[in-house]
Amino acid sequence: MKYRRFGKTNLNISVFSLGLMRCCYSEKQLFETVSKAIALGINHFETARAYGKSEQYFGNFLKTSNISRQDILVTTKLTPSDCQNIDKSSIDESLNNLQTNYIDCLAIHGINTEKHYQQLLESDSYINRLLDAKKQGKIKYLGFSTHGSLDIITKTIQTGLFDFVNLHYYYFFQRNYPIIELAKKKDLGIFIISPADKGGMLYQPPQKLKDLCEPFTPLELNYRFLLDNPAITTLSLGAANPQELFTPLEVADKDYPLTDEEKRSFNNIEQNLQRTLTTQKCSQCYQCLPCPENINIPEVLRLRNLGVGLDMTDFASYRYQMFENAGHWFWGNKGDKCTDCGDCLPRCPENLSIPDLLRDTHSCFKGSQGRRLWE
Ligand code: SF4
Ligand code: SF4
Repeated sequence: MKYRRFGKTNLNISVFSLGLMRCCYSEKQLFETVSKAIALGINHFETARAYGKSEQYFGNFLKTSNISRQDILVTTKLTPSDCQNIDKSSIDESLNNLQTNYIDCLAIHGINTEKHYQQLLESDSYINRLLDAKKQGKIKYLGFSTHGSLDIITKTIQTGLFDFVNLHYYYFFQRNYPIIELAKKKDLGIFIISPADKGGMLYQPPQKLKDLCEPFTPLELNYRFLLDNPAITTLSLGAANPQELFTPLEVADKDYPLTDEEKRSFNNIEQNLQRTLTTQKCSQCYQCLPCPENINIPEVLRLRNLGVGLDMTDFASYRYQMFENAGHWFWGNKGDKCTDCGDCLPRCPENLSIPDLLRDTHSCFKGSQGRRLWE
């Protein structure tokens, strides 16, 4: 296992961190998974008040195992609405659950919208209570996770309130690259959320993607793409049991720059996308926004790129069906809400026929009734 400095926190964190959401169905499962993770070199564990009993189970683990508290780093998360009602007892509740007298890292779970950002600036903001808890040593470091736009994330980092950021950034979603650069400049620790699942359901890739990535697996390549960037500190790993740790951790010592062979696999993917999508490839420039019908055009067409270009249809359907169903965690209406107003068309440098492509994407990925129009 390699370790990296978590930005200005100066914590030395394993390049994989164990998220406790999937292994907390029972205390026994969590104990077994955490014990194996520690044996394999993981020293950072991520929980949240919202993850069932994971704080309590992990607290019991800390209390009963013979691992020294100083050798374990814990992140827990509270949503902005939890934080709005935060008082001394809320922090103390997490400390109680975790059976510890300090939380290494506390993350605000989902600064996603302008309203969430504005709440940070209010004179009686909950952030003051968190900063007080930090002064008292109950929290060592403060960070945030986000599904927000570049603008929201940039402004939130610029407040200077935070020591680390939990970010969505993967080979198949590089929109947040400027945030990686900004976080690096500000010396923030960078924790990548869900590279296997949100990164493309890479634990069950389609045959076409597997073939293009040979001799590597798509999951391995995505991990390597991330670890190639020294500004990225750690990648979350959501193992449900000890067995699910083994495959991802084959990469845990490989934090060197991408090899020529790995670069060739990425080239194969890009060439195939170009060949398959030809003049219908969305370049993810985001210039088409805003749409008066609140359609997240670039994200809809990113899913189309992946579904049509790489046969990642399960992933495209899973994400597409979240539009209109996940609030600020995944904003935007579905493609069938397009009214053909034409506002976006002159802004698209690729001259894409956006309304047609949105309807095609809707038809393909809306659910079990979907048709594959490109076939
Ligand atoms: S044409 Fe459709 S997608 Fe484009 S801006 Fe109008 S409603 Fe939105
Ligand atoms: S402007 Fe065109 S290429 Fe750019 S994100 Fe929008 S649809 Fe894609």
